[in-house]
Amino acid sequence: MKIYPFVDLHAQYKRIEKEIDSEIKRVLNSSDFILGKDLEIFEKKFAAYIGVKYCIGIDSGTSALELGLQALGISKRDEVITPVNSFFASSVAISLIGGVPIWVDSDPKTYTIDVSQIEKKISKKTKAIMPVHLYGQSAEMDVIIKIARKYKLYIIEDACQAHGAEYKNKKVGTFGDIGVFSFYPGKNLGAYGDGGAIVTNSKTMYEKVLKLRNYGQQKKYHHDFIAGNKRLDSLQAAILSVKLDFLNEWNSKRRKLAGYYMELLKDLPLVLPYTASLNTHVFHLFVIRTQKRDNLKAFLMERGIHTGIHYPIPIYRQKAYKDIAGITDCYFPVADKQSKQLLSLPLYPELHKNDVKLISKQIRDFFNEST
Ligand SMILES: *Cc1c(COP(=O)(O)O)cnc(C)c1O
Repeated sequence: MKIYPFVDLHAQYKRIEKEIDSEIKRVLNSSDFILGKDLEIFEKKFAAYIGVKYCIGIDSGTSALELGLQALGISKRDEVITPVNSFFASSVAISLIGGVPIWVDSDPKTYTIDVSQIEKKISKKTKAIMPVHLYGQSAEMDVIIKIARKYKLYIIEDACQAHGAEYKNKKVGTFGDIGVFSFYPGKNLGAYGDGGAIVTNSKTMYEKVLKLRNYGQQKKYHHDFIAGNKRLDSLQAAILSVKLDFLNEWNSKRRKLAGYYMELLKDLPLVLPYTASLNTHVFHLFVIRTQKRDNLKAFLMERGIHTGIHYPIPIYRQKAYKDIAGITDCYFPVADKQSKQLLSLPLYPELHKNDVKLISKQIRDFFNEST
């Protein structure tokens, strides 16, 4: 039986093997592994790609969220507004620096933060809004920016799933005070290990994050505050520089394949991804919705088609949050309902059009058999 993996990182490596191997060899020969030339080159290149003044390479997306929040001055018991449907990392970064995530339900159509419910969550302790550009499409930034201005709040964008995605033809990560990216291997731009970045137009934030990632020092052995080591290493930076040249091509392939799924699945009794009109979606994930999710998932698995669920348990229902879920306002009917219905289909740039056809055919068979 042919197996359809959910993502195939090996297929991508094979396509760029020569460039990658020679870059790895070059870095090994340079033996310049930490805070060297390769990191600087990647940071400049990624900043230019996103369209910001500064980029700082960090050791993971989660660390980058933490340092971003710290750079904004968020600390003990400060509240940060963030969606309840996201990867755990968005909320836990707030908790790790002593803050409190204040959750907001999902938009029923785009699954990103429901901006109509942000204002009622604002209190005296609110310091920032952290939208997540979920599955590869931007949150509704105009509304978020308006609210942030009105209440004097910072915006930190979690763009970990949205490298190259646009809102009103401008890249995500450029709308807030700080934008955060992850280079986890399966992301649209992925390293061969952990990695992340902070982007910003503010020189003050830039200089603060430089110190935050490197023991609070600007000058060696002069430590201005308590901070650890959260640096992106040269090998990952060199790998990311190679891969960044392919990002636009890979994103447009994802969009094409997504369009193909949309066409092939359009008359079936399921909900297809909805792209808001101001967005250019980069389809980190292709997420459908059906009440028969668990049966469909099992049916596809039996036929060698691997799918994912993003996410099966809304963050406030995680055991890790059982204490604070009891004290903050936790009523999330949309996220609760959708978490039982969401299903992510295989989607990555190297997936063949014909595979999309075969996967779609199996989904069609499932609905024919189950009705
Ligand atoms: C992947 C991801 C992160 C965390 O990134 P890591 O590099 O794995 O630490 C944060 N937020 C979202 C929405 C993500 O998808």
